[in-house]
Amino acid sequence: MSNQDAPGLTTAIVNADWVVAYDPATQGHSYIRNGTVVFRDDTIIHVGKGYEGTVDTVIDGTDVMVMPGLLDLHLHAYQEIHGKGFFEDLASKHMWMTQLFEYTWLIEEDEASAEAAMQASAADLLKSGCTTMAELYCSQKLPFDNWLNILAGTGIRTYACPMVNSGHWYTPDGQNHLYAWDEAKGLKDLEGALELIDEAQAHSSGRLHGMVGAAQVDTCTEELFVACKQAAVDRGIPLQTHASQSVMEFREMIRRHRKTPLEWLDDIGVLGPQTLIGHAINIDQHPWINHHEHRDLERLARSGASVVHCPRAFAQWGDMMHSLGSYRAAGINMALGTDCYPHDMIEEMRIAGLLSKVASGHVDLLRTEHVFEIATLGAARALGRDDLGRLSPGARADIVLVDLKHPSMRPVRDPLRSLVYSGVAAAVRDVYVNGVLTVHNREILTMDQDEVHDRLQAGQDRSLPRVPGLDWAGRSADKINPLCLPVDGEL
Ligand SMILES: [Zn+2]
Repeated sequence: MSNQDAPGLTTAIVNADWVVAYDPATQGHSYIRNGTVVFRDDTIIHVGKGYEGTVDTVIDGTDVMVMPGLLDLHLHAYQEIHGKGFFEDLASKHMWMTQLFEYTWLIEEDEASAEAAMQASAADLLKSGCTTMAELYCSQKLPFDNWLNILAGTGIRTYACPMVNSGHWYTPDGQNHLYAWDEAKGLKDLEGALELIDEAQAHSSGRLHGMVGAAQVDTCTEELFVACKQAAVDRGIPLQTHASQSVMEFREMIRRHRKTPLEWLDDIGVLGPQTLIGHAINIDQHPWINHHEHRDLERLARSGASVVHCPRAFAQWGDMMHSLGSYRAAGINMALGTDCYPHDMIEEMRIAGLLSKVASGHVDLLRTEHVFEIATLGAARALGRDDLGRLSPGARADIVLVDLKHPSMRPVRDPLRSLVYSGVAAAVRDVYVNGVLTVHNREILTMDQDEVHDRLQAGQDRSLPRVPGLDWAGRSADKINPLCLPVDGEL
């Protein structure tokens, strides 16, 4: 498995205890013991036992597992982390236990804190072994001018997805969710979003890519969805939307169309191999939905659309997919996302694995190798990429070195099982993105993380006093969700 012809700087990770290599015969991962991985510039040129060619840099792979970088295909890095300490233990009790309509939009970032939040989120992802993220900018306005440069500066490979909509949710009373429509604005915003996407695709970093975004199934008109799909097809890039993310959204689509959210997307031609559905948790077979027929999984599988599963965000308000293993068994291509925070792909894999076992009552429907495959090859398939999520000659040099001497990994019988079910981000030692060392000895090299978090803290401190002006009842953040313990004896 070698390609030694191209010129450039060559790095070899030699004699690694374990290498998670891509096997073209099975189109899956397999282990190599005492293996060597070689990359030249941004491209892997060799994966196997030993290497005969000349190299510029040699890295000792003793006590190391070398694996492909993980992919996080759904997060809102610029926003949700501002709500840390506020969003936990919070859901609308009169709106089927979702946070979406009443609380998500109460924490409003400003441009300076959005910048810090994106940097902090990307750093967390990189340090958990994630080398690609899809950043969904989901707002009533398009991203600010410097958005792409800040994303590029973090060092992570990014699919920039500026989402558009024809309207937005609001609640006047904490029990109903209503829609404020401006269809012309949605179509106009799409033009601006596509300019950003084209700019991302042409970015000099070579690590920015574009993804078309239609915000939510219930906030975009058919006309906007069709325009988004066409833009994605014209450019040969993915389209992502949110769908089946709450009981109320499901009921709204039945009220409008007598169709499930996924049935409607299917009927208007949005589902297909280039389409990613964020969440797809509250589908027709979900126990909270109690629909009379169960055909959504079949629709997704037939269409070739992918589902991006974000288990932690939903577990936070008591909801879960039923189940990741059975979606996969139905033939649906699955990927993972961290959505809100924390942005830790090792933890996300663990929660995905555990909740699937809980929901299915079975251990075989989703085993370790399946979770890892979803976080790597499944995500790459969703993006239409055969050069990500794998250690294979010709693939991008997105490479993670895991320290097998880290206590969370030991004892090591099966390193991926250690990582997924016991490992922590601190076990990730070094991370290369596009051949560039981005995390070294557990430290992020592209930014001063303490300084970033100081700016993020200042951003949260500015956003919390704005909550009463955004809440339907004018309540403060402390009134909505008090701290979990009394402070200084106050009751
Ligand atoms: Zn989302």
